[in-house]
Amino acid sequence: MPDDRIADFSLPDGLLPADGRFGCGPAKVRPEQLDALASRGADFLGTSYRRGSVRALIGRVRAGLRELFALPEDYRVVLGNGGGTAFWNIATHGLIRSRAQHLSFGEFSGRFTAVDRGTPWLAEPSVIESLPGTHPEPRAEPDVDAYALTQNETSTGVAMPIRRVPGAEGLVLVDGTSAAGGMLVRPEEFDVYYFAPQKCFGADGGLWIALMSPAAVARAEEIAASGRYLPEFFSLPAALDHSARDLTFNTPSVASLFLFAEQIDWLLGLGGLAAAAAKAAKTAELVYGWAEDSPYAAPFVADPAQRSPVVATVEFAGHVDAAAMVAGLRAHGILDLEPHRSFGRNQIRVGMFPAIDIADAEALLSCIDHAIAQLGDAAGRERRANA
Ligand SMILES: *Cc1c(COP(=O)(O)O)cnc(C)c1O
Repeated sequence: MPDDRIADFSLPDGLLPADGRFGCGPAKVRPEQLDALASRGADFLGTSYRRGSVRALIGRVRAGLRELFALPEDYRVVLGNGGGTAFWNIATHGLIRSRAQHLSFGEFSGRFTAVDRGTPWLAEPSVIESLPGTHPEPRAEPDVDAYALTQNETSTGVAMPIRRVPGAEGLVLVDGTSAAGGMLVRPEEFDVYYFAPQKCFGADGGLWIALMSPAAVARAEEIAASGRYLPEFFSLPAALDHSARDLTFNTPSVASLFLFAEQIDWLLGLGGLAAAAAKAAKTAELVYGWAEDSPYAAPFVADPAQRSPVVATVEFAGHVDAAAMVAGLRAHGILDLEPHRSFGRNQIRVGMFPAIDIADAEALLSCIDHAIAQLGDAAGRERRANA
């Protein structure tokens, strides 16, 4: 399909969302975060990241995350550079002892699977797949020492509950990149919950954060001591040591850390993770309810229990050209509704992170209905003219 089709329609000003950012990452940054950065950035931007103000910022992020996720005392908050993707390499270097099990059900979980498969010192992983728009279930396997789960598969809009695998002994490694801050998770159910801050946390990309249980810390130390080659950049013991001193191994994006810290405080101010998750779930109820009631749209994820509360995928009937409509909406300032690029379907994908206002989601749905009504009228006129 050529991507230069743009559906032409008008939208009354009163119908437009106040903020047209509905992307799934990078996602909406609240104007208040940016204002705070502009007014307070001079205190720390352009200063040494090893000195007071930047270390205080890292300390603020680490303490805020500990509170937001209600971490037990013995869990660690670790961070470093490289984003969510880097953490897959960190895990294959320093968390998986010999064989992992991967639930592979979309672009992101599939990429971690591929990183593992390409890692020469690890055994061929156990891979459990399911059809797009669903998630598979993990199962205990005696020779598996790490279970790789993805709380929210951002490419398909499928979410799965995070629970330890009954009867299994390995570590539970959870990719929470698009879920963290917008979905509930219980620390007892994971050993590592890793994410990047450009989704629910409305910061920029480039950082990874890992919430680590004592078992995960012990595993990282065991592997580091085993003699396996461990590049310092991927070393969890090095990251643990730096993080404990409110440092990163090398220079971080300080502006991003600030946006991140502001968003953590905002989420805590909403009432913490439960309130943030409830806000996203309410937006999701609105979007999925609209799609279910619509004559030309339907939720892509058939099982309501597997529908993500933070990323909705909506499939359109054949007579609606979703790509052209998304391009048309973009011309009106409604941004980033494109489906994941690996996913060639007649879909839109809507970020419903806690920062997205419900009124804006309502306005988005009205705009879509308005656009489709006009396109339908235009198609009807064309058919009549050609008859
Ligand atoms: C966005 C995303 C990633 C990739 O994160 P980067 O910081 O861009 O590397 C990984 N996993 C999931 C589930 C994501 O949504």
